[in-house]
Amino acid sequence: MISLSSSSLVASSNHLCNCGLRAEIRTCWNDEMMAQRFYCCGSQNANSCYYFKWLDDEPLEDDAIITRLNDERLHLQDTLHAYETRVQELENAIILERSRKMHKALTSVVGLVCLMIALFVAFLVI
Ligand SMILES: [Zn+2]
Repeated sequence: MISLSSSSLVASSNHLCNCGLRAEIRTCWNDEMMAQRFYCCGSQNANSCYYFKWLDDEPLEDDAIITRLNDERLHLQDTLHAYETRVQELENAIILERSRKMHKALTSVVGLVCLMIALFVAFLVI
């Protein structure tokens, strides 16, 4: 029986699926824990073209599997770091925008208070 790994994208391939997208590289594992990679549709939604083509002619040897898994781990770490950096940038942008809005609101309140004081003083003088 063959089972497919759920997340085995190693890197972008130059292979195109029938959608014209870059095909994903996934790994198929058999009962002996031997791995064989294949290309599949690069679409992330339900409109898959079901493209399939073996990348490896035969299942990989143990050393090759370890190397591939390590490459995948490094790729996922890089992806995670890029997402964490982007999240931090967005959080900083949100904080900056909130500060600008708060400053604008305070400026309006201060202007309104000054106007009220001026009107009050003018009323007292008259
Ligand atoms: Zn496709």
